Amino acid sequence: MNRDLQTDVLVVGAGPAGCLAAVELARQGVDVLVVERSPFPREKICGDALLEDSLEVLESVGLDEAVKEKAHPIHSIIFVAPNGTECELEGNSFTLPRKELDALLLEEACSRGANFVGGITVSEPLVQDGACVGAVGFDQEGHKISISARLVLLATGANARILRVFGVLINRNHSAIGARGYFRLTETIDESSMVVIYDRRLLPGYSWMFPLGQGIFNVGCGIFLDGGKKMAHIGQNLKSFYKHVQPLSRHLQMAEQIAPIRTAPMRTGFQGARACAPGLLVLGEALGLTFPFVGEGVSSALESGRVAASVALEALEKNDFTSRILGNYERDLRKTLDGRHQGYLVAQRLFHFTSFANLLITKAARNSAVRGVARQILLGQRDPEDVFSLRGMLRVLLLR
Ligand SMILES: Cc1cc2nc3c(=O)[nH]c(=O)nc-3n(C[C@H](O)[C@H](O)[C@H](O)COP(=O)(O)OP(=O)(O)OC[C@H]3O[C@@H](n4cnc5c(N)ncnc54)[C@H](O)[C@@H]3O)c2cc1C
Repeated sequence: MNRDLQTDVLVVGAGPAGCLAAVELARQGVDVLVVERSPFPREKICGDALLEDSLEVLESVGLDEAVKEKAHPIHSIIFVAPNGTECELEGNSFTLPRKELDALLLEEACSRGANFVGGITVSEPLVQDGACVGAVGFDQEGHKISISARLVLLATGANARILRVFGVLINRNHSAIGARGYFRLTETIDESSMVVIYDRRLLPGYSWMFPLGQGIFNVGCGIFLDGGKKMAHIGQNLKSFYKHVQPLSRHLQMAEQIAPIRTAPMRTGFQGARACAPGLLVLGEALGLTFPFVGEGVSSALESGRVAASVALEALEKNDFTSRILGNYERDLRKTLDGRHQGYLVAQRLFHFTSFANLLITKAARNSAVRGVARQILLGQRDPEDVFSLRGMLRVLLLR
């Protein structure tokens, strides 16, 4: 049977971006409905790493402790250069399978009063006088659901099709592809470090091995498509690919694969879609917010959810859903995220060169001041351009 629903704010997609917006709006007593194509909890193809900047956003909304309680603590990231040099960067990151993280965030939103309907695939917007006034979707039995809303937050990840039908798509091509699988190691190894391996064949992409605790590891690799690299066969044969990548090959020889290797596209560089249209805001990876070069996107997705909620509150209060208010969303987001996106884009270009990757990682391995700069960049406290520019590089190479 077809259904009609009504809400003040409709959030499409229950990833970190959509859930955080729902948490913040529900806390303010706003009538918010989250719809999601998968029944929850659901898998999300991801490295499952929560770097410190993600924890910072969670802390700013009081959710860091709840996440840390479930997550596995990480005390360092070991970067392996193409020439085998290892550089260890200390820090306080965490890992938590996305199935658990996203469920936790959604639960928080619902406990604050948000409504959730899973298994609804949104197919098109409801439009009135040129403004988005809701969305139409289908449940798993194929029944049509029409949801009218004063404001729609589109948080649908790397799904370009839905951006096109909502009229906000600028570039349909994704910019990167990642693959990951879960493995249980039979040998006991250090589970407090994440390992990032820059293999010459993947540059500027990399492979990783992230511990989740109790001998289970998220193992994967990501490729940025600006180098013309072909990913398909690597995704399917991840384990055989690693035969040649140390130290992964050593560990995976005896490992049991406990989940299939799956691939997913990524949209990076704060580009590829418009941030707003009348009655509509675009959040998270849908807006290309996953960072180039590092492929990290949970922190910026969370941040976009936080900023979108605050702009949505103002729009609801003033009953104005035009770009006069909604335009503030992109402005505020660019203030905090633009520098990192631009800097990481430059880094990605430079890491096409094996010699550059070797030079930088070797310098960092030998020099604690360089490691300090790298940590500040990962934390979002320093612009990556401070390193990945001619002046920045000279400064780093001269650090003693
Ligand atoms: C292999 C891989 C590894 C990664 N590793 C990391 C990492 O370790 N750390 C990190 O920070 N980032 C990582 N990322 C990036 C990170 O996964 C994304 O940046 C992040 O998930 C973006 O969050 P989001 O909320 O914008 O979108 P998503 O998490 O993708 O959520 C979007 C939601 O919308 C739903 N949806 C889509 N279309 C519709 C529709 N039509 N109707 C209803 N619902 C819909 C989807 O089912 C999904 O639940 C990785 C990405 C990949 C591919």
